[in-house]
Amino acid sequence: MNIPYALPYIGDEEIQQVINTMKSYWLTRGPLTSEFEEKFSAFAGSPHAIGLNSCTAGLHLAQLAVGIGPGDEVITTPYTFAATANTIIHTGAKPVFVDIDPMTMNIDAKLVEQAITPRTKALIPVHFAGFPCEMEELIELANRYRLKIIEDAAHAVYSQYKNRPVGSIGDITCFSFYTTKNLATGEGGMVTASDEEVAERIRVMSLHGMNKNAWKRYSEKGSWYYEVNFAGYKYNMTDIQAAIGLVQLRKLDQMQALRQTYASIYQKAFASCDALITPYDSKEHRHAWHLYVIRLQDHVNISRNEFIVKLTEAGIGTSVHFIPVTSHPYYQQLGYRTELYPAAKEAYERAISLPLYPGMTEEQVHYVAEQVISIANQYRK
Ligand SMILES: *Cc1c(COP(=O)(O)O)cnc(C)c1O
Repeated sequence: MNIPYALPYIGDEEIQQVINTMKSYWLTRGPLTSEFEEKFSAFAGSPHAIGLNSCTAGLHLAQLAVGIGPGDEVITTPYTFAATANTIIHTGAKPVFVDIDPMTMNIDAKLVEQAITPRTKALIPVHFAGFPCEMEELIELANRYRLKIIEDAAHAVYSQYKNRPVGSIGDITCFSFYTTKNLATGEGGMVTASDEEVAERIRVMSLHGMNKNAWKRYSEKGSWYYEVNFAGYKYNMTDIQAAIGLVQLRKLDQMQALRQTYASIYQKAFASCDALITPYDSKEHRHAWHLYVIRLQDHVNISRNEFIVKLTEAGIGTSVHFIPVTSHPYYQQLGYRTELYPAAKEAYERAISLPLYPGMTEEQVHYVAEQVISIANQYRK
C-alpha cells in the first residue's frame, strides 16, 4: 500500500469550472469571487466575507484593519504554523505566546489572562486540527481587557462552537483554502468579519488600497477612475480559485461526512490501544477533523521519529503538527524559548499526524490503524 499523507479532493466538476472560468476571460478577481464570498459568508454565518489569496494574507490584513502595529502585543499559541506568528511580526507588533491545553492542544484559556499587558491589542486563537478553542472564556477576557479576537481558522472550515459556525464568533476569522485544507483551492483564503468598516478596510487593503476593484472598473457601469487610500497589498483572490472554491463548498457536507467517518474509525480502533493519546472530541462542538494527531505514550519504547520511519516503511505518509513556532531559528534568535511552553514542547515530541482526507478509502483507513497498533504493540515496554 502507498497512502500519501494528504490529497485534495478534486473531481471533474472543479476541472470543468476552471475551464469555464478561463473561457470567460475573468482570470483575476471577478464575478465568481463575489459569488464565492456571498456563499461563504452565508455558510459561516457572518455578514461579511472577503476572498484573499491565502489565510496568511487574511491574518496580516485582519491585524492591520484593527490598528495593530509597532509597540503592540498580540497573544497566540506556539502550537501553530509559523504564518500565525509571522503575520504579527509583519505588522511590527510582538508575538506573545501562551501554552496549550494538553487535552485539546488549543491555547489554554486559563493561562491567557496572565499574559495580558497594557500593550496587548488582540488574541489570535488557532482552532487546532478543527476542534474549536474555548471561545466563551476568550471573549470574556477580550471584553474585559478591550482586545480584538482574530481567529486562525485555517483548520476550522466546518467547525462549530456550541452550534455556532466558526466564522460567526470572533471579530475577524481567517480561513485557509491551501491544497491540504478541508476546502481546497490550491492557494486561497477567506476572511469573515462582523464589522462592516473592518471588512471594507480589509477589502481595500487586499487590492493596493484602491477603492474599486478591476471588475467594477472595467464593467459597463464602471469607469477608469480609482483612488489609492492606503499603501495596500496584492492579496486578492482570483476567479479561478473561486471557481474551484464554489464547487468545493457545495461538496463540503459530503467531504466532511467522509472525514467524520474516517476519524471515527481511527478513534474506535485506538480506543483500546493504551500506547497512544487520541484526539480530544466533544459532543458540545463540531470537530472539522482537518488533522488526526496521535501522541505516543511514555511506555512505548520507540521515538516519535522512529515511529514515523516505521509508518513510512509500511507505505503510510505522515506529518507532524506542529514544530512549535518558538523552536524555529528566527524566533530563537528573537529570544523565544520553547521550554517556557512545556505542554506545547511535549505535544510536539509525541505527535504524529495520520492521513485523514475524503479521497482515502475505508480500507486504507483500516490499514493505517492496523499498522499503527501493530508498531505500538511491537515496542511496548
Ligand atoms: C495552513 C495554515 C495557515 C496558513 O494558511 P495559508 O492559506 O497557506 O496562508 C495558517 N495557520 C494555520 C494554523 C495553518 O495550518
